[in-house]
Amino acid sequence: MGEDVIRVAVSGAAGRMGREVVRAVHAAEGLQLVAAIDHHGTGDDVGPQAGIGATGVLLGDNLEAELTQHKPDVLVDFTLPDGVLANLRTALKLGVSPVVGTTGLSHQDLAELDALARAQGVGAFVAPNFALGAVLLMQFAAQAAKYLPDVEIIELHHDRKLDSPSGTALLTAQKIAEAREAANVVPMTVPTGLVEKAPGARGARDMLTGDVPIHSVRLPGFVAHQEVIFGGQGQILTLRHDSIDRGSFMPGVVLAIRKVRALTGLVVGLENLL
Ligand code: NAP
Repeated sequence: MGEDVIRVAVSGAAGRMGREVVRAVHAAEGLQLVAAIDHHGTGDDVGPQAGIGATGVLLGDNLEAELTQHKPDVLVDFTLPDGVLANLRTALKLGVSPVVGTTGLSHQDLAELDALARAQGVGAFVAPNFALGAVLLMQFAAQAAKYLPDVEIIELHHDRKLDSPSGTALLTAQKIAEAREAANVVPMTVPTGLVEKAPGARGARDMLTGDVPIHSVRLPGFVAHQEVIFGGQGQILTLRHDSIDRGSFMPGVVLAIRKVRALTGLVVGLENLL
């Protein structure tokens, strides 16, 4: 350990992803867990619930107080869509670089965070998906869309996920839409007289999804999965990624913790750190 140890706080530390992050930070060389924030377990050592021994880091429920007291370099946030923006404003105000996995931030929110980060002179990072395989899937999907513009997305997640469609599905759809536009190809037109007997049966398809239909499945047993299906004359191409446990996100999270302080403003997407 030396002077360049990175001090890390985790918000949402008692959640499914937060516990995984606590374990990953604890195990990573050169990272030191200094604070853990959640509404649950206040005053308890964060280690045992993350499956590691006592860490000496006690869960707190006041983000600003914890950041002020423990002075982390980086805040990793895996909380929930309704509180994440306030958390990030607090971190940036205190000069702490955020690494954000929480989904649900709008374009407007991201623009605000970029402006705040630049004003404070600190880097910030958001990834809708920290799994390398999912990032590659998005790149392959954008490549395929130039040649096979007719495409739909099915994303499948555990039943406790609050937002739909997933951030990854929206970003994939956006990349497909951009690739189709750049290649000047258009998907087939929706037939007139289409009857959707149950609303939503054909998925969500609007400007937000770049006109790509997205179908969201929520069931116990899933972690995070996505299929991108391209249809062409006499052929189907299916790209699929499965996160079979939450460990799949941790190499990406640790990479972002190591790199975020060197960024200028807000950077979105793991592909920009590889
Ligand atoms: P979770 O198990 O519900 O964990 C979230 C935890 O954060 C809960 O303990 C929650 O407490 C707590 N929390 C909520 N608001 C908070 C706040 N303002 N300050 C501190 N703690 C707060 O959810 P999860 O499955 O871990 O997922 C968390 C987020 O990560 C979701 O947005 C999910 O979509 C996203 N995610 C991203 C990736 C990626 O690669 N980017 C991968 C997986 C998941 P309460 O229950 O009391 O609210």
